Amino acid sequence: MSTSFLDKVVNAIENREIKAYYQPQYDASTGKIVSAEALVRWVKPNGEVISPDKFIPKLEKTDDINILDWYMAEEACRTIHEMGDKAVPIAVNFSRWHVKEKDFYRKLQAILTTYRVKPEMFEVEITESALAVENLKSIEEWARNIADTGVKIAIDDFGAGFTSLQFVKNMPVSFLKVDKAFLEDNCQDERGRGTLETVFFFARRLSLKTIAEGVETMEQLKFLQNMDCDRVQGYLFSRPLKKEDFLVLAMIDNAPMVDDDDFLKKQG
Ligand code: C2E
Ligand code: MG
Ligand code: MG
Ligand code: MG
Repeated sequence: MSTSFLDKVVNAIENREIKAYYQPQYDASTGKIVSAEALVRWVKPNGEVISPDKFIPKLEKTDDINILDWYMAEEACRTIHEMGDKAVPIAVNFSRWHVKEKDFYRKLQAILTTYRVKPEMFEVEITESALAVENLKSIEEWARNIADTGVKIAIDDFGAGFTSLQFVKNMPVSFLKVDKAFLEDNCQDERGRGTLETVFFFARRLSLKTIAEGVETMEQLKFLQNMDCDRVQGYLFSRPLKKEDFLVLAMIDNAPMVDDDDFLKKQG
């Protein structure tokens, strides 16, 4: 009998090879860590770290991915719980299949209760493209149920897909997460900057908070600060970190926003 890919992943979860890494998100104006994104890694017994691009697409072909996503949600809750009064909200990525889970918000509530995590400490990231597949009414209801529990929703990779502004207008979401490709290409020329500025203007008019991912340069940071972007996340500040390293960084009140590689080295 051959083992399916899903079996391998389930085994890996049981063997604790599937790990949540955490990438800090910083308040763009104060430079403080205000939240983090949980990103999955497969750490093989030989220490090799496999990035999600190598296994998520395969799992995402079916709702097999849900098992992994719920595991990540539990891991994030465990981490929030362990951080006690130093906890910051953690965002977890959910694949498009979850949009079909009518009881999604109930499952999430049950996990939050188990780990005694307040709903405002948990954020659901769902990619823009995931939202385009279902009909508007059922997505709105799905999102409304989640929002009513107090859990916040972020639209990930915003600007990479074809979601209409009309669509976002009606969704009970709290954050637009600007796609990193957008930032890469668009900080360069005038039309690019104009497009990006429009996204921030749109978000502000709808009272949505903005998060920029993939921030790599000081130039990008300055641009985002000028745009009043709320949160920034990227290699300029920190890579996704092993849980232990993230906890060290997040527990320190005045961790420097930039140059934290050096900072972490000094920590040993
Ligand atoms: P995403 O949710 O858009 O996550 C952002 C990706 O950008 C992460 O890649 C992160 O490591 C990377 N990144 C962060 N800062 C920078 C930067 O400054 N420059 C560049 N070039 N990249 C940066 P990662 O960890 O490889 O994850 C890739 C994608 O895999 C994620 O994109 C997400 O769609 C998916 N993914 C990760 N974890 C999970 C999960 O638990 N469940 C599901 N369903 N998908 C996940
Ligand atoms: Mg994400
Ligand atoms: Mg993204
Ligand atoms: Mg992405």
